[in-house]
Amino acid sequence: MKRVLITGAAGFLGSHLCDRFIKEGFHVIGMDNLITGNLSNIEHLFKLEQFEFHHHDVTTFVHVPGELDYILHFASPASPIDYLKIPIQTLKVGSLGTHNLLGLAKVKNARILIASTSEVYGDPLVHPQDENYYGNVNTIGPRGVYDEAKRFQESITMAYHRFHGLETRIVRIFNTYGPRMRLNDGRVIPAFMGQALRGEDLTIFGDGLQTRSFCYVDDQVEGIYRLLLSDYALPVNIGNPDEITIKDFAEEIIKLTGTDQKVIYQDLPVDDPMQRKPDISKAIELLDWEAKVDRKEGMRKTFEYFKSLSQEQLYKSEHKDFSKHIRK
Ligand code: UDP
Repeated sequence: MKRVLITGAAGFLGSHLCDRFIKEGFHVIGMDNLITGNLSNIEHLFKLEQFEFHHHDVTTFVHVPGELDYILHFASPASPIDYLKIPIQTLKVGSLGTHNLLGLAKVKNARILIASTSEVYGDPLVHPQDENYYGNVNTIGPRGVYDEAKRFQESITMAYHRFHGLETRIVRIFNTYGPRMRLNDGRVIPAFMGQALRGEDLTIFGDGLQTRSFCYVDDQVEGIYRLLLSDYALPVNIGNPDEITIKDFAEEIIKLTGTDQKVIYQDLPVDDPMQRKPDISKAIELLDWEAKVDRKEGMRKTFEYFKSLSQEQLYKSEHKDFSKHIRK
């Protein structure tokens, strides 16, 4: 049985990857420090012999007994609110965490795939973004802790590939959504869904003319799986190029949820990218992959998930309390 280590296993993408690798017949070792992850995302796997969970922070030395064929590094805060609240952890998991996992991959002779992001393009001046675009990132802004950690992550991964001959893969993930997103992480989809379900107005930041392109989680996981098994070491964009303004998206959510919420406008966060849309020519050509689930269907499934949350979860509107993890 092939063995895979997945970091960030209790998070949104990590937990879906655990499911996929279990389904493919792997032995899955999930790792998470549970700062932003939630064990309820993977508790259905705990009864399986094929699955084990290690509660560990990958920014400290990572030890995994036995052989490993693959490592997928998906541990990281991934929402602008998290970057503001836990900026140092965000920097450390992308840099020190990646370094530890590359070291582990080297001793285990494992192939490693690291989760990079469209944020490496910053607030892009080129549209749509292809993998050759170097980006437009504010190093010292609030998102800089995430963007620069991810840029460093790509850089050190390529160094291990070139210098040590390590088998590496880099996926640049564009906005992805689906069941198990954290309700209060501040991202636009959980925010709008939560607001609609609580009967609150939908908060649009800025004038709502900024665009995003949303990819359903099953498509994202398929792209990642294909990239891991490919022989391509340079970064590949995985996302859905179907672009929409946040304003139009709010209207779609109001229609979908059948509520008659209004929208209200709030200040645009600092360095919030104006336009984002992946050029996925590379993924099509190399992986024969493109997104299949349209937004209507994906959003319907996502809404079912948010609807299934308890009233208590829905009204616990405070953002997750990270204070016990923060050393002053
Ligand atoms: N956004 C919004 N209202 C919210 C949350 C987010 O209008 O309640 C906007 C946000 O300013 C951004 C877009 O939605 O332009 C996507 O935000 P998200 O945090 O989901 O992802 P990212 O900015 O990292 O792409």
